Amino acid sequence: MALRTLQRRTRQLIRECYFCKNAVEDIDYKDIGLLKRYISSYGKIAPRKRSGCCAKHQRKLAHAIKKARIMALLPFAIQ
Ligand SMILES: [Zn+2]
Repeated sequence: MALRTLQRRTRQLIRECYFCKNAVEDIDYKDIGLLKRYISSYGKIAPRKRSGCCAKHQRKLAHAIKKARIMALLPFAIQ
């Protein structure tokens, strides 16, 4: 019984990658509305556990966020 509830809980935590689901190949660094969903209140990039991205898209997402920061579209840090 306990194992079953644990399995159910872990299954709920596993989400499909948003970018794989919507067949997004390259993440646009100018799409601030989308990128803002993957940064914390301190401006940090969300880890895979929170973003739910696959390894490939997490890498592309981090790259897009870093690019947006350099272009001053996103903050490096929020106080
Ligand atoms: Zn993906």
